[in-house]
Amino acid sequence: MSEDPVSDRVCTICRDRAEAWKLSQERFLGKAENELACFQERYKLKKARLMYSEHAGLRQWQRAFSVSNIREAVIHGFPIYRYYDKKLKEVKIILMSYVKLQAMEYRPMHVVVGFHEQTPDLWTVITVYDPSTEKHWQWNDQFDQKVCFCD
Ligand SMILES: [Zn+2]
Repeated sequence: MSEDPVSDRVCTICRDRAEAWKLSQERFLGKAENELACFQERYKLKKARLMYSEHAGLRQWQRAFSVSNIREAVIHGFPIYRYYDKKLKEVKIILMSYVKLQAMEYRPMHVVVGFHEQTPDLWTVITVYDPSTEKHWQWNDQFDQKVCFCD
């Protein structure tokens, strides 16, 4: 009689990683929420800036999502995960948002943003994707928890 702590859709290969992801999520989400709230506040005051990386997939995701979709996600989205690279002192946050297609129809959207610990007013959009189409098996039903890391 044990309730699965991750999801009912768990990849057996990735079970431990998914568990570690969830623990990390629980531990650092509050920090990401504070960082996002702070950025949003400063962004509205035009004291913070959002940049776009020279990511190879830039054109590819621009076909699926507009720059205003991305801006909306940063202003109204919520964080689902935070990574911290100790060596580079860089923070990466996965933001979850939805794009309205028509009445009662929304498309999920993940925006991965990054910033250096010392410049929290300068965020770079690293990538954007729809988790329900790209590698959808990696996510739970709400697309807010990574349950599989297989490609
Ligand atoms: Zn897996």
